[in-house]
Amino acid sequence: MIAHEIQTATNQPVFSERLLAWFDVHGRHDLPWQQPRTAYRVWISEVMLQQTQVATVIDYFNRFIQRFPQLGDLAAAPLDDVLALWSGLGYYARARNLHAAARVMAAEGIPDSLVHWLALPGVGASTAAAIMAQAFDAPATILDGNVKRVMARHAGIDTPIEQASTIQALYHVAKSHTPTTRLADYTQAIMDLGATLCTRGQANCARCPVSTDCVAYLTDQVAQLPTRRARKPIPTRRAIFLHIEDDAGRLMLIRRPPSGIWGGLWCLPEYTPIEAQELQQSQHSESAARQAMLSQWSFAVQGEAVEIAAFEHRFTHYLLNATIERVRVGTYSYAQDTPDVRWFHVCDLPAALPQLGLPKPIARFLADCSVPLEE
Ligand code: SF4
Repeated sequence: MIAHEIQTATNQPVFSERLLAWFDVHGRHDLPWQQPRTAYRVWISEVMLQQTQVATVIDYFNRFIQRFPQLGDLAAAPLDDVLALWSGLGYYARARNLHAAARVMAAEGIPDSLVHWLALPGVGASTAAAIMAQAFDAPATILDGNVKRVMARHAGIDTPIEQASTIQALYHVAKSHTPTTRLADYTQAIMDLGATLCTRGQANCARCPVSTDCVAYLTDQVAQLPTRRARKPIPTRRAIFLHIEDDAGRLMLIRRPPSGIWGGLWCLPEYTPIEAQELQQSQHSESAARQAMLSQWSFAVQGEAVEIAAFEHRFTHYLLNATIERVRVGTYSYAQDTPDVRWFHVCDLPAALPQLGLPKPIARFLADCSVPLEE
């Protein structure tokens, strides 16, 4: 049984008409990027929404637009300011790409075609389609996570959702439902359906406007669809972060390399500990590894490193198991700020933290230790 046969048999309005009628009454019409729905605002919202839910994005979006109301404001800003406003939202490559794309658009203009949006950093097929549909009311089909789930259930597609052939099939179905008018509303409507009724957990099929020809609903497979490949357990990676504090009570932060995990963010210096089995064979001790790392700044280290905190942070591909060690150093006569190193008195941290792009667990730790630690 496929959706098309059911729809023909019942002779009801097509998918998009039913969805739009539902959207007019129950959809979300007051999201901040809808008022006004300009290409600049839609683009920012779509990049933020790539890995993050609407409820979380709203506050970030409002702060972002307040600081960068126009494209030119974003293009002219230092990357640090962008990363600071992105702090806590995760997937920081999005912020770096957003900033790079803003500079391209400031020079070349905001694109008004799918192909030109796709040429910008950080804009994939679904994001480009969402921008074209919402900002330009152009015929474009989105296929984000929510839409994939709706299409898989509605059409009864039961092959793993990550598979290329499945994605192709889902896109084909999604495109076949895309209307030729009210593209902006339809795009918001299909996202709303996935976010509010056809949710990952308990779908609310009783209130769904397209349930009468939904294969998953009619064949009692809603809980089983979409299917996924069996997930491999993710590995754990160990790391040690150094809370380097000098005699004057100042704490050192460094800027991480521009690419990779937490790229471009301010952070405590990090090193990878020598694992126990390596340690037995290694000529170097754990403290030698730490010392090698510290030697790049010529510190006079005082006493032993002391573990003061630990945290775990889950990335898509691994679990970071981290400890934070405090290292006291003598007043460092060369302790001046550079583009990649900054010193903060712990008393100044509460005011400084909101201005910095920081990884979430590091920001949380620094907020907790913003009063001097007692011995
Ligand atoms: S009927 Fe249920 S499973 Fe089917 S599209 Fe609607 S909410 Fe999703």
